[in-house]
Amino acid sequence: MSNVHVTRARPQITPIAAFDDNYIWAIVAPKGDSCWVVDPGDAAPVLAFLAQNDLTLAGVLITHHHSDHTGGILALKEAFDSLPVYGPANPAIKGITQPLTEEGGYRLEPGNGQFALECRVFKVPGHTLDHIAYLIDDALFCGDTLFCAGCGRLFEGSAEQMYHSLGQFAALDDSTKVYCTHEYTLANLRFAKAIEPDNQALADYMLTAEALREQQQPTLPSTIGREKAINPFMRCQKNTLQSRLESHSGQPCNDPVSRFAVLRQWKDNF
Ligand SMILES: [Zn+2]
Repeated sequence: MSNVHVTRARPQITPIAAFDDNYIWAIVAPKGDSCWVVDPGDAAPVLAFLAQNDLTLAGVLITHHHSDHTGGILALKEAFDSLPVYGPANPAIKGITQPLTEEGGYRLEPGNGQFALECRVFKVPGHTLDHIAYLIDDALFCGDTLFCAGCGRLFEGSAEQMYHSLGQFAALDDSTKVYCTHEYTLANLRFAKAIEPDNQALADYMLTAEALREQQQPTLPSTIGREKAINPFMRCQKNTLQSRLESHSGQPCNDPVSRFAVLRQWKDNF
Protein backbone atom coordinates (compact mmCIF):
# COMPACT_ATOMS: atom_id res chain seq x y z
CA MET A 1 0.00 0.00 0.00
CA SER A 2 1.38 3.39 -0.93
CA ASN A 3 0.42 6.53 0.86
CA VAL A 4 -2.14 8.19 -1.35
CA HIS A 5 -3.38 11.56 -0.22
CA VAL A 6 -6.83 12.29 -1.49
CA THR A 7 -7.69 15.97 -1.35
CA ARG A 8 -11.44 16.35 -1.28
CA ALA A 9 -12.53 19.32 -3.32
CA ARG A 10 -14.24 21.95 -1.20
CA PRO A 11 -17.28 23.92 -2.31
CA GLN A 12 -16.72 27.57 -3.20
CA ILE A 13 -18.62 30.06 -1.09
CA THR A 14 -19.67 33.30 -2.79
CA PRO A 15 -21.75 36.25 -1.55
CA ILE A 16 -24.85 37.36 -3.46
CA ALA A 17 -25.66 40.94 -2.43
CA ALA A 18 -29.30 41.63 -1.52
CA PHE A 19 -31.23 44.63 -0.14
CA ASP A 20 -28.95 47.31 1.38
CA ASP A 21 -26.47 45.19 3.30
CA ASN A 22 -27.52 41.50 3.21
CA TYR A 23 -25.41 38.68 1.85
CA ILE A 24 -27.11 35.54 0.55
CA TRP A 25 -24.28 33.00 0.62
CA ALA A 26 -24.04 30.58 -2.32
CA ILE A 27 -22.29 27.27 -1.62
CA VAL A 28 -21.19 26.17 -5.08
CA ALA A 29 -20.45 22.49 -5.84
CA PRO A 30 -16.79 21.71 -6.65
CA LYS A 31 -18.03 20.54 -10.07
CA GLY A 32 -19.49 24.01 -10.63
CA ASP A 33 -22.90 22.80 -11.78
CA SER A 34 -25.14 23.47 -8.77
CA CYS A 35 -25.27 25.37 -5.50
CA TRP A 36 -27.12 25.78 -2.24
CA VAL A 37 -28.09 29.21 -0.94
CA VAL A 38 -28.34 30.38 2.66
CA ASP A 39 -31.10 32.79 3.73
CA PRO A 40 -32.52 33.97 0.39
CA GLY A 41 -34.44 37.03 1.54
CA ASP A 42 -35.04 37.91 -2.12
CA ALA A 43 -35.28 35.46 -5.04
CA ALA A 44 -34.34 37.91 -7.82
CA PRO A 45 -30.60 38.26 -7.09
CA VAL A 46 -30.36 34.49 -6.53
CA LEU A 47 -32.00 33.71 -9.89
CA ALA A 48 -29.70 36.25 -11.59
CA PHE A 49 -26.63 34.68 -9.96
CA LEU A 50 -27.73 31.17 -11.04
CA ALA A 51 -28.30 32.32 -14.64
CA GLN A 52 -24.99 34.22 -14.84
CA ASN A 53 -23.04 31.22 -13.57
CA ASP A 54 -25.06 28.49 -15.32
CA LEU A 55 -25.93 26.81 -12.02
CA THR A 56 -28.95 24.85 -10.87
CA LEU A 57 -30.24 25.25 -7.32
CA ALA A 58 -29.65 22.16 -5.14
CA GLY A 59 -31.39 23.46 -2.02
CA VAL A 60 -31.94 26.23 0.50
CA LEU A 61 -30.79 26.66 4.11
CA ILE A 62 -32.65 29.01 6.45
CA THR A 63 -31.32 30.30 9.79
CA HIS A 64 -34.36 32.13 11.21
CA HIS A 65 -37.77 33.51 10.38
CA HIS A 66 -37.04 37.20 9.58
CA SER A 67 -38.31 38.17 6.12
CA ASP A 68 -34.95 39.47 4.88
CA HIS A 69 -33.77 35.84 5.26
CA THR A 70 -36.87 33.99 4.04
CA GLY A 71 -38.69 36.29 1.56
CA GLY A 72 -37.37 34.50 -1.54
CA ILE A 73 -38.24 30.92 -0.55
CA LEU A 74 -41.58 30.58 -2.34
CA ALA A 75 -40.38 32.11 -5.62
CA LEU A 76 -37.34 29.80 -5.62
CA LYS A 77 -39.60 26.79 -4.99
CA GLU A 78 -41.70 27.84 -7.98
CA ALA A 79 -38.58 28.07 -10.14
CA PHE A 80 -37.13 24.69 -9.05
CA ASP A 81 -39.28 21.57 -8.69
CA SER A 82 -38.89 19.57 -5.47
CA LEU A 83 -36.49 22.12 -3.99
CA PRO A 84 -35.49 21.08 -0.45
CA VAL A 85 -35.69 23.94 2.06
CA TYR A 86 -34.02 23.14 5.38
CA GLY A 87 -34.61 25.40 8.35
CA PRO A 88 -35.95 25.82 11.87
CA ALA A 89 -39.08 23.87 12.79
CA ASN A 90 -41.09 27.11 12.91
CA PRO A 91 -44.48 27.01 11.15
CA ALA A 92 -44.28 30.81 10.71
CA ILE A 93 -41.69 30.22 7.96
CA LYS A 94 -43.63 29.42 4.79
CA GLY A 95 -42.00 26.89 2.50
CA ILE A 96 -39.73 24.88 4.81
CA THR A 97 -39.78 21.27 3.54
CA GLN A 98 -37.24 19.76 5.94
CA PRO A 99 -37.65 21.18 9.47
CA LEU A 100 -34.56 20.60 11.61
CA THR A 101 -35.87 19.87 15.08
CA GLU A 102 -32.68 18.57 16.67
CA GLU A 103 -29.09 19.73 16.98
CA GLY A 104 -26.41 17.48 15.54
CA GLY A 105 -25.05 16.08 12.31
CA TYR A 106 -27.14 15.98 9.13
CA ARG A 107 -26.70 15.01 5.52
CA LEU A 108 -28.68 17.52 3.46
CA GLU A 109 -29.96 15.93 0.25
CA PRO A 110 -30.23 18.08 -2.88
CA GLY A 111 -33.33 18.34 -5.05
CA ASN A 112 -31.31 18.68 -8.26
CA GLY A 113 -27.88 17.29 -9.16
CA GLN A 114 -25.63 15.30 -6.86
CA PHE A 115 -24.45 17.96 -4.43
CA ALA A 116 -25.35 16.85 -0.89
CA LEU A 117 -24.01 18.74 2.14
CA GLU A 118 -22.75 17.27 5.40
CA CYS A 119 -23.39 19.74 8.20
CA ARG A 120 -23.71 20.22 11.92
CA VAL A 121 -26.73 22.16 13.15
CA PHE A 122 -26.66 24.31 16.30
CA LYS A 123 -29.61 25.85 18.09
CA VAL A 124 -28.63 29.45 18.82
CA PRO A 125 -31.56 31.34 20.38
CA GLY A 126 -31.10 35.03 21.18
CA HIS A 127 -31.72 37.18 18.09
CA THR A 128 -34.86 35.07 17.58
CA LEU A 129 -35.98 31.97 19.46
CA ASP A 130 -36.02 29.80 16.31
CA HIS A 131 -32.48 30.70 15.21
CA ILE A 132 -30.21 27.87 14.07
CA ALA A 133 -26.70 27.86 12.56
CA TYR A 134 -24.95 25.47 10.17
CA LEU A 135 -21.32 24.32 10.21
CA ILE A 136 -20.28 22.90 6.83
CA ASP A 137 -16.60 21.82 6.75
CA ASP A 138 -14.87 24.88 8.24
CA ALA A 139 -17.64 27.32 7.26
CA LEU A 140 -20.09 28.60 9.87
CA PHE A 141 -23.36 30.09 8.57
CA CYS A 142 -24.53 31.97 11.61
CA GLY A 143 -27.32 34.19 10.23
CA ASP A 144 -27.93 37.19 12.51
CA THR A 145 -26.39 35.63 15.63
CA LEU A 146 -22.73 36.60 15.22
CA PHE A 147 -21.55 39.52 13.09
CA CYS A 148 -18.00 40.62 12.45
CA ALA A 149 -17.19 42.66 15.59
CA GLY A 150 -20.82 42.47 16.78
CA CYS A 151 -23.87 40.29 17.31
CA GLY A 152 -27.57 40.33 16.51
CA ARG A 153 -30.08 42.34 18.50
CA LEU A 154 -32.13 40.48 21.11
CA PHE A 155 -35.57 40.60 19.47
CA GLU A 156 -36.93 37.45 21.13
CA GLY A 157 -34.32 35.77 23.32
CA SER A 158 -32.55 36.78 26.52
CA ALA A 159 -28.99 37.99 27.05
CA GLU A 160 -28.25 34.69 28.75
CA GLN A 161 -29.46 32.69 25.74
CA MET A 162 -27.42 34.78 23.31
CA TYR A 163 -24.33 34.59 25.51
CA HIS A 164 -24.56 30.78 25.45
CA SER A 165 -25.25 30.72 21.71
CA LEU A 166 -22.09 32.74 21.04
CA GLY A 167 -20.27 30.44 23.45
CA GLN A 168 -21.03 27.49 21.13
CA PHE A 169 -19.29 29.38 18.33
CA ALA A 170 -16.35 30.34 20.56
CA ALA A 171 -15.76 26.61 21.17
CA LEU A 172 -15.15 26.01 17.44
CA ASP A 173 -11.66 25.98 15.98
CA ASP A 174 -10.13 29.47 15.61
CA SER A 175 -9.71 28.89 11.86
CA THR A 176 -13.48 28.40 11.36
CA LYS A 177 -14.74 30.91 8.78
CA VAL A 178 -17.71 33.03 9.83
CA TYR A 179 -20.31 33.79 7.14
CA CYS A 180 -22.68 36.37 8.64
CA THR A 181 -25.66 37.70 6.69
CA HIS A 182 -25.05 41.45 7.01
CA GLU A 183 -22.24 43.84 6.18
CA TYR A 184 -22.33 45.68 9.51
CA THR A 185 -18.60 45.46 10.15
CA LEU A 186 -17.50 49.12 10.11
CA ALA A 187 -20.31 50.30 12.39
CA ASN A 188 -19.63 47.39 14.74
CA LEU A 189 -15.93 48.22 14.81
CA ARG A 190 -16.65 51.82 15.85
CA PHE A 191 -18.61 50.50 18.83
CA ALA A 192 -15.94 47.91 19.65
CA LYS A 193 -13.30 50.67 19.63
CA ALA A 194 -15.36 52.69 22.13
CA ILE A 195 -15.46 49.64 24.43
CA GLU A 196 -11.81 48.60 24.03
CA PRO A 197 -9.77 51.63 22.86
CA ASP A 198 -6.50 49.89 23.72
CA ASN A 199 -7.16 46.64 21.82
CA GLN A 200 -4.36 46.57 19.23
CA ALA A 201 -5.82 43.64 17.24
CA LEU A 202 -9.02 45.65 16.89
CA ALA A 203 -7.17 48.79 15.72
CA ASP A 204 -5.21 46.73 13.20
CA TYR A 205 -8.29 45.01 11.81
CA MET A 206 -10.13 48.35 11.47
CA LEU A 207 -7.56 49.43 8.86
CA THR A 208 -8.07 46.16 6.94
CA ALA A 209 -11.86 46.44 7.02
CA GLU A 210 -11.85 50.12 5.97
CA ALA A 211 -9.60 49.31 3.01
CA LEU A 212 -11.91 46.46 1.93
CA ARG A 213 -15.00 48.65 2.11
CA GLU A 214 -13.31 51.47 0.19
CA GLN A 215 -12.94 48.95 -2.63
CA GLN A 216 -16.59 47.79 -2.18
CA GLN A 217 -15.30 44.35 -1.08
CA PRO A 218 -17.08 42.30 1.62
CA THR A 219 -15.32 42.15 4.97
CA LEU A 220 -16.64 38.59 5.27
CA PRO A 221 -16.02 35.82 6.00
CA SER A 222 -14.42 36.56 9.34
CA THR A 223 -12.92 33.81 11.51
CA ILE A 224 -13.69 32.62 15.03
CA GLY A 225 -10.10 33.49 16.02
CA ARG A 226 -10.50 37.08 14.83
CA GLU A 227 -13.86 37.46 16.56
CA LYS A 228 -12.37 36.28 19.85
CA ALA A 229 -9.68 38.95 19.47
CA ILE A 230 -11.80 41.95 18.41
CA ASN A 231 -15.50 41.35 19.10
CA PRO A 232 -16.56 42.65 22.55
CA PHE A 233 -19.58 40.30 22.54
CA MET A 234 -17.16 37.35 22.28
CA ARG A 235 -14.97 38.79 25.06
CA CYS A 236 -17.45 39.06 27.94
CA GLN A 237 -15.64 36.38 29.93
CA LYS A 238 -12.76 38.86 30.30
CA ASN A 239 -12.67 40.94 33.48
CA THR A 240 -11.03 43.75 31.50
CA LEU A 241 -14.44 44.90 30.24
CA GLN A 242 -15.92 45.02 33.75
CA SER A 243 -14.96 48.49 34.99
CA ARG A 244 -15.90 50.17 31.70
CA LEU A 245 -19.32 48.49 31.65
CA GLU A 246 -19.93 49.22 35.33
CA SER A 247 -19.15 52.91 34.96
CA HIS A 248 -21.44 53.08 31.91
CA SER A 249 -24.38 51.24 33.49
CA GLY A 250 -23.95 52.05 37.18
CA GLN A 251 -24.63 48.40 38.03
CA PRO A 252 -22.34 45.51 38.96
CA CYS A 253 -21.05 43.52 35.98
CA ASN A 254 -19.07 40.81 37.72
CA ASP A 255 -20.23 37.88 35.62
CA PRO A 256 -20.09 37.32 31.85
CA VAL A 257 -23.88 37.34 31.28
CA SER A 258 -24.39 40.69 33.04
CA ARG A 259 -21.45 42.12 31.05
CA PHE A 260 -23.05 40.80 27.85
CA ALA A 261 -26.45 42.30 28.76
CA VAL A 262 -24.98 45.77 29.43
CA LEU A 263 -22.91 45.62 26.27
CA ARG A 264 -25.94 44.71 24.14
CA GLN A 265 -28.04 47.53 25.64
CA TRP A 266 -25.19 49.99 25.13
CA LYS A 267 -24.86 48.98 21.47
CA ASP A 268 -28.62 49.31 20.93
CA ASN A 269 -28.32 52.99 21.84
CA PHE A 270 -24.87 53.71 20.42
ZN1 LIG B 1 -32.81 38.63 11.74
